[in-house]
Amino acid sequence: MEFGKVQYFERVETKHYREFIQAHNNCILCSSVLELRHIRTDEALEIKEEAYCPQCDLRTRAKNYTMN
Ligand SMILES: [Zn+2]
Repeated sequence: MEFGKVQYFERVETKHYREFIQAHNNCILCSSVLELRHIRTDEALEIKEEAYCPQCDLRTRAKNYTMN
């Protein structure tokens, strides 16, 4: 990781990061704040992430993260 490079692009990165957060924490249909759930699997090596809109009764994503 190049620290100087990160600093140089700090503003751009921050803006993109905020847009990323916005897009992933609000419902695409009604813009309600999504409820995030993190569920550990039985093996405890993966975390399942779900984003759920209580207004639309919509589950917008489910991801699995593997813990190393
Ligand atoms: Zn919604």
